[in-house]
Amino acid sequence: MKANVKKGDVVMVISGSTKDKQATVAAVDYDGGRVTLEGEGAKKIKKHVKPKRAQDKGGIMEQSGTVHISNVMPICGACGKPTRVGHKEIEENGKKKKVRVCVKCGAVLTSPKLSQPKSIVERVKKRISRRSDKEKEKAGE
Ligand SMILES: [Zn+2]
Repeated sequence: MKANVKKGDVVMVISGSTKDKQATVAAVDYDGGRVTLEGEGAKKIKKHVKPKRAQDKGGIMEQSGTVHISNVMPICGACGKPTRVGHKEIEENGKKKKVRVCVKCGAVLTSPKLSQPKSIVERVKKRISRRSDKEKEKAGE
C-alpha cells in the first residue's frame, strides 16, 4: 500500500484519542497500513501480562498501539505545519529521484536518512511550546 509517511517522520495525529498531538513514527506496516508511534501522540494500550515464570510479576504493561496511516500527517520541517504530501521528481547527481514535498510550502520533506530528524523535532517542539504558551495567555492562565 502506498504510504506517505516513513519511519523517523515527525507526524501530527489527526484522529483518535491522541488527536492534535505529535509523535515520531517508530515503524510503518506498509501491508497493514498502520504506523507505530513514539512520543506524546502515541496511543498507549494496556496489556495484561501473565507471569511466565515464578519470579515474574505480571500485571499491566503499557505498550505503544498502532494507528491507521491515514490518522497521521507528516509535519513539514520547513513550515512546521502538518501537511498532505505531494510528490515531485528532482534530479540529483544526474539521476532522477522522486521526493515527497509539502503541499503547503513546497519544501522537500526530508527523509530520515538524508536529514537531521533531531533538529527538525527540536524546531517543531519549540514551535509547539511557543504556540501553547500563546494559547495559555489567551485563556488567561
Ligand atoms: Zn511546508
